[in-house]
Amino acid sequence: MNNYGFINKVYDGVVEIIGLKNAKYGEMIIFENYEKGIVFSLNKNSVNIVLLNNFENLKQGQKCFCTNKVFEVPVGEELIGKILNSKGECLNIKQKLKIKKKDIIEKIAPGVMDRESVNEPLLTGIKAIDAMIPIGKGQRELIIGDRQTGKTTIALDIIINQKNKNVICIYVCIGQKISSLINVVNKLKKHNCLEYTIIVSATASDSAAEQYIAPYTGCTIGEYFRDLGKDCLIIYDDLTKHAWSYRQISLLLKRPPGREAYPGDVFYLHSRLLERSSKVNNLFLKKKNVFKKNGTLTAFPIIETLEGDVTSFIPTNVISITDGQIFLDTSLFNSNIRPAINVGLSVSRVGGAAQYKIIKKLSGDIRIMLAQYRELESFSKFSSDLDSETKNQLQNGEKITLLMKQKPHNNYSIIELLIILLIIKNDFFIKIPVNQIEYFEEKIIQYVRNINISDYISINNNNIEYYINEIINNFIIKSI
Ligand code: ATP
Ligand code: MG
Repeated sequence: MNNYGFINKVYDGVVEIIGLKNAKYGEMIIFENYEKGIVFSLNKNSVNIVLLNNFENLKQGQKCFCTNKVFEVPVGEELIGKILNSKGECLNIKQKLKIKKKDIIEKIAPGVMDRESVNEPLLTGIKAIDAMIPIGKGQRELIIGDRQTGKTTIALDIIINQKNKNVICIYVCIGQKISSLINVVNKLKKHNCLEYTIIVSATASDSAAEQYIAPYTGCTIGEYFRDLGKDCLIIYDDLTKHAWSYRQISLLLKRPPGREAYPGDVFYLHSRLLERSSKVNNLFLKKKNVFKKNGTLTAFPIIETLEGDVTSFIPTNVISITDGQIFLDTSLFNSNIRPAINVGLSVSRVGGAAQYKIIKKLSGDIRIMLAQYRELESFSKFSSDLDSETKNQLQNGEKITLLMKQKPHNNYSIIELLIILLIIKNDFFIKIPVNQIEYFEEKIIQYVRNINISDYISINNNNIEYYINEIINNFIIKSI
C-alpha cells in the first residue's frame, strides 16, 4: 500500500504531490500539519491537490496521507439560520455546532427513473415572474444580466416570499465582496428570513478552492432536505465567479486552456451541479426509506454577462443546462423599469405545467400584448405621425409595463397578482392617465391588503374571477 506522498511543488492554493499511488479523484488528503485538501487531478507521476486552508505553512518535502474518504460537509436542521463557510464550519456563532450527520459533496444526480415532472408552483412574489415566467418546484431557472441590474434583489425577493411556506432556502455566495454578503445577510435578517435560510459563503477573499467547492456544499445540504421529502430552494450567486475560480485552479495546474481560457470540462462543472436539483419520485424516496411527500430542490443560478452578451461561453453553457432564464436588461433598468425583466428573452420551459390555471389563462394575453407593444414601439421611432389606434396601443402597452413594475422586497401574493391581471384584462386601466397608473396600482393593493382578502378566497375557487372583479369595482366606485 502506498497511501502517503511528499509535496513536490506548492502553487497558489494548489500543491503537487509525488507518491499517493492509491489516491482517487475527489478524495480528501491530510497533510502533516493537519491541513486538508482535495484530489483535483491524477497525473502519471504526480497528484494535484487543491487546498482548503492556508497554504503558507506547507513546504516542499512535507508528508501527506490518503484518507480514503470523499470530502464531507455537515448536513441537518441545525444548520438553519447559520452562515457557513464552504467546509461547512459555522461562522456566525462562537461555540461549535453539534453535528449529527455529514454527507459527501460530490454525488451523482438522480436519474430519469428517480424523477417526477415539475407540477407544483413555487411562487416568487414578483408579478412579472409569477405571471409570465412561472417557476415550478424542482426546476432550474437561470437569472442572467449585466452587473447591477437587480439579480441579487430578485433572488432575495424569492427567499423572502417563501416565509411560512415550508420551503428551506439556501443562499450560496461565490466570489462576491464581503460587503455584498453583509448586505444580503442584513436584508434577510430584517425580513426575518434567517429562520428558514442557510447561507454558504465563499467571498472574493477566500481561496479559489473554497469558491470552487461552495456550490457543491450548498447543494449537498439542499439534497439532505430534499431526500427527507421537503421542499428546498438554492441560489448560486454567482456561477460566473465559480467558473473563474475553476479556471484559476486549472491554469495553475497547467491544464490546456480552451475557449476564453476555460478548461475543456467547464460545461461538466455546472451541469453536474445543476442536474442535482430535481423533484424526486416515490421510488427514489423509498430507496432512502422516506415515506412522505416527494421532495424538491429548486435551483436559481445567477450569471453575470458583459454588455448583455448571452452568447459568450459560460452564459450559453448555463442557458443550455437550465430549464429557462430570467433575462435582466440594463437599458430597462436605466429607464426605471424595475425589475428589469426582458419578457421577450425570458422563458420558463417547464413551469407552465405548475402554474395556476386562471393565472395561465390571463397572463397569456399579456405576454402577447407586451410583445406587440415592443414591436410597435421600436417601429414608431421612425415615423412621427401615427394613427389613433396605434397611439392607443402604444399607450396601453406603456401602462401594462408600468403595472408590472415592482419595488424591491415588496412581494405580491397570488391573489394580489390576480387583481393586477384582471385590471389589465377588463381594461380598468384604460381611463387612467399614464402618469397616475403607479399611484392607482399602489392604492388598490393597499386597499386589498387592508381588507385581507387572501384569507377568505382561495385561488382555486371557481368564482374567483367574479369576486375579484367585484373588489376592483368597489375600489373604483369608492375612489371616485
Ligand atoms: P451585482 O452585479 O453587483 O451583483 P446585482 O445585479 O445583483 O448587482 P442588485 O445588487 O440586486 O444587482 O441591485 C442593484 C441596485 O438596484 C440596488 O441598489 C437595488 O436596490 C436596485 N434595485 C434592484 N431591483 C430594484 C427594483 N425592483 N426597484 C428599484 N431598485 C431596484
Ligand atoms: Mg448581485
